[in-house]
Amino acid sequence: MHCSKVTERIHILGGGPAGSAAALAALRQGARVRIIEKSRLPRHKVCGEFFSPEIEPELEQLGGWDAFLAAGPARVRRTVLHFGARTKSSRLPEPAFGLSRYAFDRMLLDQARAAGADLVTEAGEEQPLIVATGRHAIPTQRGQRLFGFKAHFEGPTDDAVELFFFERCYVGVTAIEAGRTNVCGLAPESFLSRFGFEYDDIVMHCPALSDRLKPLRRATQWFSTGPLQYGQSFVNAGPEYPAGDALSFVDPFTGSGLLAAVRSGAMAGRAAVIGQPVADYLRECRASLRQPFQVAGVLRRALEGGWAEKLAPLAPGRLLFALTRPR
Ligand SMILES: Cc1cc2nc3c(=O)[nH]c(=O)nc-3n(C[C@H](O)[C@H](O)[C@H](O)COP(=O)(O)OP(=O)(O)OC[C@H]3O[C@@H](n4cnc5c(N)ncnc54)[C@H](O)[C@@H]3O)c2cc1C
Repeated sequence: MHCSKVTERIHILGGGPAGSAAALAALRQGARVRIIEKSRLPRHKVCGEFFSPEIEPELEQLGGWDAFLAAGPARVRRTVLHFGARTKSSRLPEPAFGLSRYAFDRMLLDQARAAGADLVTEAGEEQPLIVATGRHAIPTQRGQRLFGFKAHFEGPTDDAVELFFFERCYVGVTAIEAGRTNVCGLAPESFLSRFGFEYDDIVMHCPALSDRLKPLRRATQWFSTGPLQYGQSFVNAGPEYPAGDALSFVDPFTGSGLLAAVRSGAMAGRAAVIGQPVADYLRECRASLRQPFQVAGVLRRALEGGWAEKLAPLAPGRLLFALTRPR
């Protein structure tokens, strides 16, 4: 690896998980850090709020693991996939976690600030070196667009992440902190508009999901996001280090977006301080994240083609889980 110089001041655009992880990593290298975040945080974010087990070593390295545990994440020990009346269950090799984005994003940003990062709402004269601004907004054709939605529920919890597949959409149900359950889905606009974007009606449309939600009571409004556009920018001609969803956003089915955001953020923070060439940084990101991104691409095509429901029950659950993890 060829590194040119040590950068002492790092400006990071975006204070989500990738931006905060970049800040923590750069601070650990002795840099001074400024985070430019345009929104008021914390806030609810549309997300499955599922963290795969590999988040532990990533946060350990950044000094954020104890704070993560202190936020009280739920333990997730099983996966249950529902395809119509068929279900496919498997035990996770290690426990995963459920924690709201409200709690997680706040925890990580607080950690970065406590470690010395300066937080501002507008960029000054200096160009940001790390771009962690989340998904790119790319115009897509009406009707074919994908939207995400989520709400928190109260009531009995369990230790499974459940995914319900129906009509080219899927909805995930996961326990989070404080005895709550997150319900988060992703669906094409054409399907959502049949229900006038009434999410209570949409989740009742799938009988297995409707049964699962019967003992629960919705505790927040429905939040929605979109249109979602998948894309990867492992090539960047500019001098900035893209991290998190700004680097790559794939179908969130794999539940590894947050892990990828924290990992690439930390890699960007370190790379920016030591002056690692951006092309080398991007090559390392690609090597680490390629596998789950490729698998997510195949799954998205399967969902769009309507054959996921036929094929997925045939694949061993543990294999599916292993294939969707970053290296
Ligand atoms: C429906 C859905 C479900 C998902 N479920 C899961 C899941 O269960 N598990 C999982 O691991 N991942 C999941 N993901 C993916 C996960 O949400 C993302 O990978 C993660 O949010 C990426 O973090 P980030 O920091 O890159 O971006 P973000 O979380 O989007 O943060 C970007 C930040 O940058 C700020 N910003 C943007 N532009 C500017 C600007 N110009 N100036 C200053 N600030 C700016 C924004 O306000 C924001 O705070 C899901 C995604 C979707 C859409």
